[in-house]
Amino acid sequence: MNGMMMESQLTLTAVMRRALCNSPDSEVISVTLDNPLHRYSYKQAFARAAQLAQVLCMLGANRGDRIGTLAWNDHRHFELYYATSCSGLVCHTINPRLFPEQIHYIIEHAEDRWLFIDPLFVPLIESLEDKLSTVEGVIVLTDRAHMPDSKLANYYCYEDLLVNQPSSFQWPDLREESAAALCYTSGTTGNPKGVLYSHRAMALHTYGVLMPDAFAIRRDEAILPVVPMFHVNAWSIPYAAPAVGAKLVLPGPSMGCGETLSKLIRQESVTIAAGVPTVWLALLKYLRNSKETLPSLNRVVVGGSACPWSIMEEFEQQHGVYTHHAWGMSEMSPLGTYNARIAPSIAPKEAKKLRLKQGRAGFGVEMRIVGPQENPLPHNGTAFGALQVRGPWICERYFKSEESALTTDGWFDTGDVATIDSLGYLTITDRTKDVIKSGGEWISSIELENFAMTLEGVAEAAVIGVTHEKWAERPLLLVVLETGVKLKPDKILSTFQGQFAKWWIPDDCIIIDELPHTATGKISKKDLRQKFSEHLWPQEITV
Ligand code: ADP
Repeated sequence: MNGMMMESQLTLTAVMRRALCNSPDSEVISVTLDNPLHRYSYKQAFARAAQLAQVLCMLGANRGDRIGTLAWNDHRHFELYYATSCSGLVCHTINPRLFPEQIHYIIEHAEDRWLFIDPLFVPLIESLEDKLSTVEGVIVLTDRAHMPDSKLANYYCYEDLLVNQPSSFQWPDLREESAAALCYTSGTTGNPKGVLYSHRAMALHTYGVLMPDAFAIRRDEAILPVVPMFHVNAWSIPYAAPAVGAKLVLPGPSMGCGETLSKLIRQESVTIAAGVPTVWLALLKYLRNSKETLPSLNRVVVGGSACPWSIMEEFEQQHGVYTHHAWGMSEMSPLGTYNARIAPSIAPKEAKKLRLKQGRAGFGVEMRIVGPQENPLPHNGTAFGALQVRGPWICERYFKSEESALTTDGWFDTGDVATIDSLGYLTITDRTKDVIKSGGEWISSIELENFAMTLEGVAEAAVIGVTHEKWAERPLLLVVLETGVKLKPDKILSTFQGQFAKWWIPDDCIIIDELPHTATGKISKKDLRQKFSEHLWPQEITV
């Protein structure tokens, strides 16, 4: 027997309607290239999204067409999110930090019809123009006064196109399964793959993000996503903030600038901010030098890579800011787990252990770990295996792929290696491809890195497996020191003694000026493995 409830589609249009109804005056603040502090309300934002939807119709965009964006976090990108998705088009956000060949591949594969780009990216698109077979024109996200000169065909100014367009639009009734957004994974192996998000997945994921044991954003808060809107929809924050009517603060191209972040947090009374560890390193460094404080900031969400304890400690001790560790991936929209506030009654040593874990899956994500034969492993905090997930906001297949991306019994393999404890806490021990296989046993590169990052004077650390005749692979530690610090590799290695089993301890340590990062801000272990593939081990290794 079926239930007898109303059929109501879960769409992003409902998010827009709700913001217009309940929070029309809540603000969206942006840093853009043409305005250091743009400020308007959700009411104005969605009126402009309606104007933009008219423009997209005029340009001949049809249901399901992909509209590419190459843009930072600002109000125009926000307008694009809603104008495209809510009119039945697909908002295809492109990561400008990728190599030009990858950007070319992605635009061709997605068959983008129009590109909306920040002025900064005009030269990039000019360099690719001859090779773009589906793109009909380029719209630059700025006003007439800031339009860069270009010979690009069908080249328009965003603000010119919006002028005189009606500020209301007949938003279509969309089915919840229709595609809303498209984002390609950075493709650390092989070509990038497109994750095609549906309205339903985005709406449910928005609920997931807003849950009390997740971001728990309230209407009277201000949120600063320092995660780019060009990667996994900025963790859904541009949907979650208007859904509850919170103020949205968008840092534009200044995401890596500690000074701008501090200024925005203080001026706009930001209460919650979200980003990868590297942006917090930049902010904390700025705060250390400037002696500024962040009185309004209550919590930061850190994900994308393991969050070092040093970040959590400095935020809490110096600024009274609680750090929540979260884990996810493009294929999961991205939220998988969230480490909610640990009860004050838990002893500090135990609390630290828990907080370094990636957290627990909220309602909407199920997780399991499996062994080499896909045999489910116990959730006892020690067994570790391939992490698999399932749920309504997890990818079933990649864009244009005929094949399902799932295991035969319907789980998505994340490519991560993890443990899960009896209370459901997840600990990522590695990426499947980064785990170090020494003499048939696995060594977690993340655990070694986390430890190295706690050492005084260490700014960043990476551990990679390098070929070894006898052991197949052995761990090599690469360290970037803080400016002015002098530390000998042997001294660093000696600190690992007694902290790990002997056979886990790296056999060599190299101090380097900087570590390579991927387009999404993670340490590129692929590049490091290539660079150090010929590394000569210092002596015979007995473990
Ligand atoms: P891409 O799809 O571009 O590779 P994602 O942003 O989807 O990048 O990255 C997902 C991966 O990032 C996860 O599978 C995991 O390996 C890593 N990751 C994300 N959050 C964390 C975290 N909190 N701790 C450790 N690793 C993380």
